[in-house]
Amino acid sequence: MRTRAAVLRDYGGPIEIAELDLRPPQLGEVLVEIAASGVCHSDLHAVNADLPLPIPLVLGHEGAGVVRAVGPGVMRPRVGDRVVLSWIPACGNCRFCREGAPHLCTTAADATREGRLLTGEAPFSDPSGPVHPFSMTGTLSEFTVVPAAGAIPLPDGVPLQMGALFGCAVMTGVGAALRTAPVRPGDRVAIFGAGGVGLNIVQGARIAGALSIIVLDRVPARLELARTLGATATVNVLDEEPIQAVLDRTAGFGADLSFEAIGSPDTIAQAFNATRRGGTAVIVGVSPPHEEVSLNAFAFPSQEKTLKGSWYGSANGPRDLPLLADLYLTSRLLLAPFVTRTYSLDEVSAALDDLAAGQVGRPLVTMALAQGKESPDGAF
Ligand SMILES: [Zn+2]
Ligand SMILES: [Zn+2]
Repeated sequence: MRTRAAVLRDYGGPIEIAELDLRPPQLGEVLVEIAASGVCHSDLHAVNADLPLPIPLVLGHEGAGVVRAVGPGVMRPRVGDRVVLSWIPACGNCRFCREGAPHLCTTAADATREGRLLTGEAPFSDPSGPVHPFSMTGTLSEFTVVPAAGAIPLPDGVPLQMGALFGCAVMTGVGAALRTAPVRPGDRVAIFGAGGVGLNIVQGARIAGALSIIVLDRVPARLELARTLGATATVNVLDEEPIQAVLDRTAGFGADLSFEAIGSPDTIAQAFNATRRGGTAVIVGVSPPHEEVSLNAFAFPSQEKTLKGSWYGSANGPRDLPLLADLYLTSRLLLAPFVTRTYSLDEVSAALDDLAAGQVGRPLVTMALAQGKESPDGAF
């Protein structure tokens, strides 16, 4: 079949809205009609070659839609199921999957790096050859083919447009707080960066019962949204020195847990230095692969600090998506404030520009399925 998609052909851009061939789902794969796709900083990183992904590339990895066909051997999901796409469809059989850490699946990491699906080749093509999907998803397309393990049924009651956000920002942010850290009741938490991921760390910390949630950013509107989502204090880093600002708000000790959600050596060092003795700094932001961080070596033994990475919120999608849905349906996880503007597929470049310019919330691209056509269960 044919599908329209946002394609990166050369690092640096531009983004082309192209009509591509999409092959049928093969063994263990499903065809999904996309309803909505968020646009993430990782898409920007791919455009700027700060993420090592092969081109030509169909952008987008934060989407939800409806299964339209399944390949051989697929028991779940079924045709007609509403699904959220995971950008780590775990193989279930590598060492990390077997040890209960499917977010570290090496089979999935290899496939992502090579721009193909778990066991098959890239699903998209044009006359010049294969067109790779971003991390086995490629959600900025009207249709995509993904591994069945990466199409997780979305519980009833959650609109597909909101469900799309679960696919990256929410899973990554809430997961970092609830799974990677984890935040405990009474913790004093500092969060560096109030983008889509940082704001969801705010929500995760609130849900976990953090006593104080200090959010640092340079955009006033983002800090305002952070307060709406649960921040107890906000710091504009253009006005205050960030480490001192955290010390001032934690009785001089530093945060029990600091989260870095920007992906920059400077803010990683700030997060580490704003963590109290015996505390943990969790690095969530994705830095370009060549970046290095400089930290005081003496602080590790003498202050017993821990530095910890968090990838996709240490999430197990089939376990954690129903939890996120329940948190949303009981009004503890807020999603509507993130969607300040929606875009059509033809406006993907504008969405990326707005994201790069520090727009508040999450640019959300909606497709025909979300623009009036009813999905099978009437969620739209
Ligand atoms: Zn992302
Ligand atoms: Zn695996």
